[in-house]
Amino acid sequence: LQIRLESARFEPVRWEEDLTFSPGELGLEPGGGLGPVAVRGTLSPVASSYLLDARLSFRVTLACDRCTAPAASEVEARVLLNVIPVGARSRRQEGGARGEQLASGEGGQVELSADDVGTLEVADDRLDTRPLIAEQVVLELPTRPLCRTDCAGLCPRCGADLNLGECRCGPAAGDPRWSALEALRNRLADRD
Ligand SMILES: [Zn+2]
Ligand SMILES: [Zn+2]
Repeated sequence: LQIRLESARFEPVRWEEDLTFSPGELGLEPGGGLGPVAVRGTLSPVASSYLLDARLSFRVTLACDRCTAPAASEVEARVLLNVIPVGARSRRQEGGARGEQLASGEGGQVELSADDVGTLEVADDRLDTRPLIAEQVVLELPTRPLCRTDCAGLCPRCGADLNLGECRCGPAAGDPRWSALEALRNRLADRD
């Protein structure tokens, strides 16, 4: 979607859209599943810039961090950006002005400081939401997705999926052949 900044000059513009991205477009592995990204946002006039406030929600399937099985996550994120038109006004970052602008933005339930809010410069009065949302989706992807919170992961020795039960490596105690190997391993380790 393209939003003309001019249209938000005097009152907030609301927008809603559902964006679909291919995994490749976002640099995800081909197998990773990304559902449509639902965006609900407003662009509000603030002094001579704008505050973009948008909520994103989407479902993404990535490889489980422990066992590599598909791990689905529901992601909800909020994007706050100070949108600055460039070209028309070049000097607009004078001390103090920024905090005031943010405080007068919508959504007063959240305390905003300049650190929480990124800055986006927009040329030609046109804010293209797609690249912006794509970038935010990548930032919000779970870094350590789990197929379930108690995923047992893979055996570090044989690679078996421990969610399916114990592998043959098992606890060494039960099997004398393994305990002999274990003893040897410990002796070798001690030599380091
Ligand atoms: Zn897992
Ligand atoms: Zn094993």
